[in-house]
Amino acid sequence: MKPAVFAYAKARSLDHAIELLGQHDGQARVLAGGQSLIATLNMRLDSPDLVVDINGIPGLDGIARRNGQVEIGALVRHAAAERSDLIKRQLPLIAQAMPHIGHPAIRNRGTIGGSVALADPAAELPACLLALGGEVEIAGARGRRMVRADDFFKGLFDTALGPGDVLTAIRLPAATSETRTGFAEFCRRHGDYAIVGLAASARAEGRSLHDVRLAFFGVGATPVRARQAEAGLANGTVDAAVAGLAEDLDPPDDVQASGVVKKQLAAVLLRRVAAQLMEQRS
Ligand SMILES: Cc1cc2nc3c(=O)[nH]c(=O)nc-3n(C[C@H](O)[C@H](O)[C@H](O)COP(=O)(O)OP(=O)(O)OC[C@H]3O[C@@H](n4cnc5c(N)ncnc54)[C@H](O)[C@@H]3O)c2cc1C
Repeated sequence: MKPAVFAYAKARSLDHAIELLGQHDGQARVLAGGQSLIATLNMRLDSPDLVVDINGIPGLDGIARRNGQVEIGALVRHAAAERSDLIKRQLPLIAQAMPHIGHPAIRNRGTIGGSVALADPAAELPACLLALGGEVEIAGARGRRMVRADDFFKGLFDTALGPGDVLTAIRLPAATSETRTGFAEFCRRHGDYAIVGLAASARAEGRSLHDVRLAFFGVGATPVRARQAEAGLANGTVDAAVAGLAEDLDPPDDVQASGVVKKQLAAVLLRRVAAQLMEQRS
């Protein structure tokens, strides 16, 4: 299929992008890597009046450490994040997750900002952002604001981004010697969206884990924190954590698997990820 007719504009600056988006009353879309947007337009699942290409905006493609956080610009390609030494050292969870996103051709074009803005409930990066307790930087007509990951994902493909907003960066806490992370996903073929996945982080103190954050993906409309399971793991028992999933998760059936199967897979992944978190303890 071909997309419906739309106008195209290449933004010269962030302000220019925001101005263009603001002129179209919710009928303009940001174009980043285009790996999801173009398919959506081609299938006529969306038919905006205007597509605003942000690829030429300077300053959105950096990766830097500032004030104990790592900032990843919205236009950083997945492939660049995958190759980044800073991310390998300071954000081990992102480094673990990155190779699971699609295939090299997709990672060469797809962007960090696009993945978080799209908020596909089966995607790896939104769950990592949530598991790490990161923040999203947003620029709009009323200036810049930061939104915590816990408040960013609102519903199915729905986020705290308004129609005139541009996601400019994500910020994630840099790892310390106490940071522990775990990642696992189940999918039919490597590179597919996950049927169920789990991204996790924790802080180790001696033999115990604190500040456990478990973010499941592929189990609902958004990435989902499993708070009972987090408490179970923090108390040191994997069985208690797995039992907690009964309250934490209620995955709907989808084309990939029934909710019952997804819940079973979530328990298996939780045991694997718990082992990763605990193996790393001193
Ligand atoms: C075959 C295939 C397999 C894939 N497999 C996976 C997978 O396993 N896991 C996974 O996570 N993803 C997967 N993807 C998606 C891929 O990661 C995309 O790159 C990503 O979802 C969107 O990033 P993008 O830069 O291409 O965004 P685009 O396609 O350009 O945009 C996606 C959406 O986000 C909005 N947007 C983009 N950037 C911004 C911004 N800075 N501010 C505000 N809004 C913005 C757009 O308006 C659009 O609505 C796959 C894609 C394909 C084609």
